[in-house]
Amino acid sequence: MKNYIVLLLLFLSFNAFNQGYFQQEVNYTISVTLNDQDNTLSGYESFEYINNSGQAMDAIYVHLWPNAYKNNKTALGKQLYNMNDMSLEFAGEGDRGWIDSLNFQVNGEDVKWNYDEEHIDICKINLNSVLQSGQKIVVTTPFKVKLPSGDISRMGHVGESYQITQWYPKPAVFDQSGWHAMPYLTQGEFYSEFGSFDVSITLPKNYVVGATGDLQTESEIAFLNECAQRTADKYTKGEFQDRKTLRGGDTDFPVSSNEMKTIRYTQNNVHDFAWFADKRFEVLKGEVELPHSKRKVTTWAMFVTHHHQLWADAIEYVNDGTYYYSLWNGDYPYNNVTAVDGTISAGGGMEYPNITVIGNAGSKEELEVVIVHEVGHNWFYGLLGSNERDHAWMDEGLNTLNEMRYIETKYPKNERLSDMMMGMADKVHLEHLDHHDMSDLTYSLSAGYGIDQPIELHSDDYTSVNYGAIVYSKTGLVFTYLKDYLGDTLFDKCMQAYYDEWHYKHPQPQDLRKSIETTSGKDLGWLFDDIIPTTAQIDFAIKKVKYDDKGATVTIKNTGQVDAPVRVDAYFSGKIRATKWIEPGEKKSTVYFEGTNYDKFRIDGDKRMPEPNRNNNSWHKKGLCHKYEPLKLEFLGGDNELEYTNAWYTPIIGVNKYDKFMVGVMFHNTTIPKNKFEYTLAPMFSIGRKNVAGFANLSYSWVPAKNFRMISLGLNTKTFGNGIGIAPDSATAPRGFYYAVQPYLDFKIGKPAAKSFAKHRLRLNGNFIYENGTLFENKMIGGSAIYSFKYKKRVHDFSSEIRFDYYNGSLNTPITATPDLSVLNAQAEVKYKLLYWKRKKEYVEIRAFFGQNLMYQGFLDSRYGFALGGQSGTMDVFYENYMMGRNEIDGLWSNQRIENQGGFKTVSGFGTTTTQLVAANLFFDLPYIPFVGLFADFGVFDNAGVMTTVYDFGVGIRVADKIGIYFPIYESDNLKNSFAVDVKYYNKIRFTLNLNGLNPGEIIQTVL
Ligand SMILES: [Zn+2]
Repeated sequence: MKNYIVLLLLFLSFNAFNQGYFQQEVNYTISVTLNDQDNTLSGYESFEYINNSGQAMDAIYVHLWPNAYKNNKTALGKQLYNMNDMSLEFAGEGDRGWIDSLNFQVNGEDVKWNYDEEHIDICKINLNSVLQSGQKIVVTTPFKVKLPSGDISRMGHVGESYQITQWYPKPAVFDQSGWHAMPYLTQGEFYSEFGSFDVSITLPKNYVVGATGDLQTESEIAFLNECAQRTADKYTKGEFQDRKTLRGGDTDFPVSSNEMKTIRYTQNNVHDFAWFADKRFEVLKGEVELPHSKRKVTTWAMFVTHHHQLWADAIEYVNDGTYYYSLWNGDYPYNNVTAVDGTISAGGGMEYPNITVIGNAGSKEELEVVIVHEVGHNWFYGLLGSNERDHAWMDEGLNTLNEMRYIETKYPKNERLSDMMMGMADKVHLEHLDHHDMSDLTYSLSAGYGIDQPIELHSDDYTSVNYGAIVYSKTGLVFTYLKDYLGDTLFDKCMQAYYDEWHYKHPQPQDLRKSIETTSGKDLGWLFDDIIPTTAQIDFAIKKVKYDDKGATVTIKNTGQVDAPVRVDAYFSGKIRATKWIEPGEKKSTVYFEGTNYDKFRIDGDKRMPEPNRNNNSWHKKGLCHKYEPLKLEFLGGDNELEYTNAWYTPIIGVNKYDKFMVGVMFHNTTIPKNKFEYTLAPMFSIGRKNVAGFANLSYSWVPAKNFRMISLGLNTKTFGNGIGIAPDSATAPRGFYYAVQPYLDFKIGKPAAKSFAKHRLRLNGNFIYENGTLFENKMIGGSAIYSFKYKKRVHDFSSEIRFDYYNGSLNTPITATPDLSVLNAQAEVKYKLLYWKRKKEYVEIRAFFGQNLMYQGFLDSRYGFALGGQSGTMDVFYENYMMGRNEIDGLWSNQRIENQGGFKTVSGFGTTTTQLVAANLFFDLPYIPFVGLFADFGVFDNAGVMTTVYDFGVGIRVADKIGIYFPIYESDNLKNSFAVDVKYYNKIRFTLNLNGLNPGEIIQTVL
């Protein structure tokens, strides 16, 4: 009995152990032939699959990723489309790729296998008999791959340059959370089982090949050494012919040799095998000694001849990358590291075990960063085989940390970001920006506007911008911040412990956390619970500084959303003299600096923390305003410098009918990282009115919580001429003008998402309008509540808006006795745009509008109603748009229209209706003719008690809804005859010129 219990306990503990960490093993033997005439591979594969899990298996899932390129319905095809990349969507037969001729056998017997129902690049092999825990099977199949165009994604060929990646049938990972069968994606990487590879490649003899693993073929080793000697000689003897410049494509391929060669590579403990073949390759060979074991690793660089200047020091980059990553994380355990020059469309470079492929780099500086980054993936991807698809930050982010550290270590005074602006940096005031700033500005740009996404998110859910700004940049910054907090020595110990425990394995986020927490002895909840899974933002402020006779007490307030550690620096005459860290803790904490000669304190003086708002980080002893940095006024624009309160100026000119030309200066502080308080002041002098004109916008914006993009509290003001109250061409009398003041509160809700993006926005406006002509003086107060919703997915673009406007006017004209009025209007607009012809980006747009007056008291004035197509400023009572001649009743400037209300493209003699208007508009983008389309408008409105139906159609030329010109062809009789006087045809041609939303902040939010 007792024995039974012991056995049972043993069994239970054994099972419990097995439910924990395990990993499967896959050992491949592949022979493959490249046919460079029809760009195909013919191969035969055999892999041993060892079931190390505690469970018996009756099927295995296998990736057939060349099928991702088969048509535009694959996950890859859909993702590329969503990223606005049409390379597979419209690829011809010759440019697409696939895998076929498969005939899977298990242990020599035929088996049933089938393609996944949803993804043709995944298949399931049903085993004839169950694969028990601890047992193995041998799976074999022939295969044929058609190589796609290298312009689509990572696998393919560009002419006779071959990038052979994700090319063979490969089992998906089975781990403690089950199967990870996944379709191939361009944005989203890999997760593979560790094992060994034995690969024999047959191809024409004059190809130079770079591949994963150790080359076993003596004749090929000799061939590569000869190539390396020849290239080295060309450098020493200056024999390179400068046929082309540093960049550019060389498409002249030597004729392929009739003779074939077979070369064999082997490698243990890797999870993928890639190879690259090009007859044009130059070869550089080097060697690096590893820092810990002193073992020597052979390094290679292969590149096309016309890149010989750019790649001259490539071996140095490969060597230094291998050295530093080994030093900080653990020695490189393989024998070769290779960087090859390739034309790939997936980013600047791509990593595979032992070998990386590098896309076109613009400079040596850029090439070094890309090579080091890709070489670094041998650790974060290669050795530490995390699930890149689900936790992309674990490889890209940790790798970016090491890449940033590499540049900082090798070039402590680098200005790499400024250097990459090709001499423009000082002209746009972006000088002195280093490699760390590149990530800092990228993240801040996204976070400042609240359009960021969390670090922990599925790869396919990121917008393209955030895949870079968050997965790479933010994670890199966050772990650099952790490194600074722990100190280099302790951080290295943490990373080396992580490496020791997890290399050749599949670490998950909790494994990384546990490893660092155990080694450092710190609770890292602020990092792993707050920063990584959410968009919570870090923000600390210096509240006060109090000196006593021995030192100074600095009070720090956590004004952000993360309870993180914070670094405080004490300065004396411009230099950091002491640094202290405050542990994660209270909302408010203090830190004491001994010594009384400090003249300045700053949170994070070296800009190391990922903190989008650094404007509250400083305290100066000197002066009255201790927290204010000195003003720096520069031309045009630039970055937000820690040491200054930056502002910019630029001369501007304006034009409209009443002011004629206006000249002035615009001052603003729009920059990155974004300021919470932003202003644009544009005072101008109106030549037409000989008076002041211009506009000023002020706003305070913040990102309050996870699901908000941004809340803004702001004030828009403007004053221009409006031409009313006086004969328009009077040369002597002062012309009419207006002041419009609009305080507002604007809520933007909904974070960006890659596959579909829903944006909600609620805006509350107050309006104060003062209009002054010689004959009258109008005052109006009013307000609007506007809710808008936008949704975009693939070919569908939907937007809607519900709006309530309240007007309370006091019209002080001598004409009317009781000129006061009070009006409440409601309106709803729905717009649907369908991309009906994807290839040519042609669309059809349908719009519907409904306007209803809810209350009308007092003096009846047509401009507070709804118009079919706008008349003398009636469509813009709150002066929200810039108009060239808002109160013109004839002439060119009277024909500017606004895309609102009835939306008619032609003019109309009908006034507005103060009760009800229904309208529908159609715009059909004509195929083959860019920007040109047909329009049709239809409206029903209450025309002084008579419901009247009107319609028109014509031809329009337009660019989005910003610029357009419309020519009517047909109008319904009542519309045509609605004028008291005869209207010439040219007076019916109308134009749109919408200058709203053209400021940098709005553009950034639209684009990202
Ligand atoms: Zn990377």
